[in-house]
Amino acid sequence: MFENLTDKLERSFKILKGEGRITEINVAETLKEIRRALIDADVNYKVAKTFTDEVKQKALGQDVLKAVKPGQMMTKIVRDSLAELMGGTASDIRLDGTPAVVLIAGLQGSGKTTFSGKLASFIKSRKGRQVLLVAGDIYRPAAIDQLKVLGSQIGVEVYTEEGNRNPVEIAENAIRYARQKAFNVVIVDTAGRLAVDEAMMQEITAIKAAVKPSETLFVVDAMTGQDAVNTAREFNDRLDFDGVVLTKLDGDTRGGAAISIRSVVDKPLKFISNGEKMDALQVFHPERMADRILG
Ligand code: GDP
Repeated sequence: MFENLTDKLERSFKILKGEGRITEINVAETLKEIRRALIDADVNYKVAKTFTDEVKQKALGQDVLKAVKPGQMMTKIVRDSLAELMGGTASDIRLDGTPAVVLIAGLQGSGKTTFSGKLASFIKSRKGRQVLLVAGDIYRPAAIDQLKVLGSQIGVEVYTEEGNRNPVEIAENAIRYARQKAFNVVIVDTAGRLAVDEAMMQEITAIKAAVKPSETLFVVDAMTGQDAVNTAREFNDRLDFDGVVLTKLDGDTRGGAAISIRSVVDKPLKFISNGEKMDALQVFHPERMADRILG
C-alpha cells in the first residue's frame, strides 16, 4: 500500500534535493504535491490540508530554506508529522478486570470474527493469559461456526449458546462462566450489519453497558476508504470505543483511512490485520507506518 504516495513524495523531495537554492515557492509546490498524494491515498481533504499547513509551519520554523540538505530535512519533518498524526507512539490494549472484557464492534464483513480469533491467539501467546472467545453474532449461524473453527485452530475455547436469541444475556453468561473456569480475558465478538442501523447500535450499546469492557475495539475494512471514516464516526458517537483495528491492509489499498480515522475520531489505531491467517496481525506502530508511507 501507499506505493503511489511514496512515489509522489519521493518525486517532490527529489525536486527539492535537486535545487541549488530552495525557495518558498519550491516548498509550497512540494506541500501541494504532498496534499494531493494524501488525498489520492484516501485521506480526507480537511485532514490533508491541516497536515500540510502544519508541515509548512514546522518547515518555516526550522528554516528549511537555509538548510544544507533541505530535502532531507523536509522528509524528516513529514515523517515525524505523519507519525504524530497517527498517534505518535503505539498504544497497547487495556486488559483490566477479572476477567478483562474486550468487546469487538464493526460492520458485517469488516473482519470482526477473524480479528477476534487473531486477538485471542495474540493475547494467549504474547501475554500468557487464559482467553475465552464469545460468539455473540446470533443472527448468522455461520459466524458461530466460523469462530468455533478459529478457536480450535488456535486452541482457545469458544462460548456459545445455541438457541439463545439474547446477545446481552449470552455475553453476561459467558463472563460468569469465565469467572468459574478461571479465564482471565473474555473477547466478545458481536453481530454486524451491512450498514449502520439503529437496532445494531442499540444492541451493541446494551452489550457494552452490561459487560463493561476494559477495551472496546472498532474493526474497519481499510479497503472502504472514505466510508471507513464515516462508519468510524458513527460508531464512536454511539459507542465511544477505545481503539481502532484496520483490516485487509494486505489488499489493494493505499491505507489513507489510517490517517483520516485517527484525525476524525481521535482514537488510537491499535492493530492492523493483513491477511486471513491467524498470525496475520500486527500491533499498530505510527512511526513504522509513517516509514512505510514514505518508503
Ligand atoms: P465479520 O463479518 O466482521 O465477522 O467479518 P469476517 O471476520 O467474517 O471477515 C470477512 C471476510 O474477510 C472473510 O472472508 C475473512 O477471511 C476476510 N478477512 C478478514 N480479515 C482479513 C484481512 O486482514 N485480510 C484479508 N485479505 N481478508 C480478511
